[in-house]
Amino acid sequence: MSPEILLDPSVTSNSSDTPTRPFNQDQFDTYVMNTYGRFPIAIEKGQGCRLWDTQGKEYLDFVAGIATCTLGHGHPALVETVSHQIQKLHHVSNLYYIPEQGELAQWIVDHSCADKVFFCNSGAEANEAAIKLVRKYAHTVLDFLDQPVILTAKASFHGRTLATITATGQPKYQKHFDPLVPGFEYVPYNDIDAVKNAIADIDEGNRRVAAIMLEPLQGEGGVRPGEIEYFLRLRKICDENNILLIFDEVQVGVGRSGKLWGYENLGVEPDIFTSAKGLAGGIPIGAMMCKKFCDVFEPGTHASTFGGNPFACAAALTVLKTIENDNILQNVQSRGEQLRTRLRAIVQKYPNLFTEVRGWGLINGMEISENTELTSIELVKEAMAQGLLLAPAGPKVLRFVPPLIVSEAEIDEAVTKLETAIANKI
Ligand SMILES: *Cc1c(COP(=O)(O)O)cnc(C)c1O
Repeated sequence: MSPEILLDPSVTSNSSDTPTRPFNQDQFDTYVMNTYGRFPIAIEKGQGCRLWDTQGKEYLDFVAGIATCTLGHGHPALVETVSHQIQKLHHVSNLYYIPEQGELAQWIVDHSCADKVFFCNSGAEANEAAIKLVRKYAHTVLDFLDQPVILTAKASFHGRTLATITATGQPKYQKHFDPLVPGFEYVPYNDIDAVKNAIADIDEGNRRVAAIMLEPLQGEGGVRPGEIEYFLRLRKICDENNILLIFDEVQVGVGRSGKLWGYENLGVEPDIFTSAKGLAGGIPIGAMMCKKFCDVFEPGTHASTFGGNPFACAAALTVLKTIENDNILQNVQSRGEQLRTRLRAIVQKYPNLFTEVRGWGLINGMEISENTELTSIELVKEAMAQGLLLAPAGPKVLRFVPPLIVSEAEIDEAVTKLETAIANKI
């Protein structure tokens, strides 16, 4: 498309009532802390799977706020729910009962292995809640465990608070933040012998491990799906030893994998799982779901001011009901197949550049060969120039996490843009 067409408001946006305004990057950089490596565009509007920047350039959004905008941008059901809820009531303390919170918790319990839910505002907080629950479980239920350890995986990602960067098995996130939180040890992902070694001291009557926390599919760490055989054996080991199995579903849950919950791809159920990113389609929310030992938490043990407020809960209920009523899981499965098939054709065409495509549903990664200089960031930038937004998952993996409502034509369009980007880079 020529720049003239891109600047035509009737083409660039269906909400042409909001005029494009100049963006002041100097002001931004002067006043906002420099914690992100930002791309030099400012996004201003969105509709469906499309975004527009302040220059009027249109993008196909295969980032979705990092696997967060489940229903895309400006979805009528979500717009209607949040507009209505902000007028009715948007926040009230957990000192009182919040009906929307009860309704959302029941929906989640009715559609998962969980018995009860605790609400907070982000993925890191949901994982913090799980970590606190495990510690209290260790000190009260297994009262012989003085210094309980949680095993997590190398290359995992669990958030940016102190406890969750410690849980995250990637030294780059921990650097310069010591002392870290005690009580975490790391094992390679999908490696059952490593788990057995880590808990071998149980047989010597010298137990340390209270829980194992894993992503069903590692997102940030390179889009690596869990292996069924590994998780089946892990579930058995946990059952035999009263070890809690925690799944961090912050990225892969809420339909993204083609099933409602990521664990459904693995044939096992966790004791605790966490959710956040896509749960309310982009309205901040976090949740910890608990199957056993929910009553370890009692009044006064854990809390969050914003957690479970009517606004976020109403939004999440609408997201979940829309996934169910609009048959969105079917779309996720077919669009995922379509995307992987087309990406695999690219890998075949450029065997020196790419090694493989992997993923579930609409969380997919395309790995760049170690034998080339090309990095994921370089390809992300070139795709952006072509009007396609992608996110890296580490230096060598391109991540594709579009809204779950993405259409067949949009998948084709995205892959065509990616092909152009690749052709321009080689
Ligand atoms: C994004 C993410 C988190 C952290 O979520 P925040 O909302 O940024 O705190 C935790 N775990 C996984 C698997 C994630 O992808």
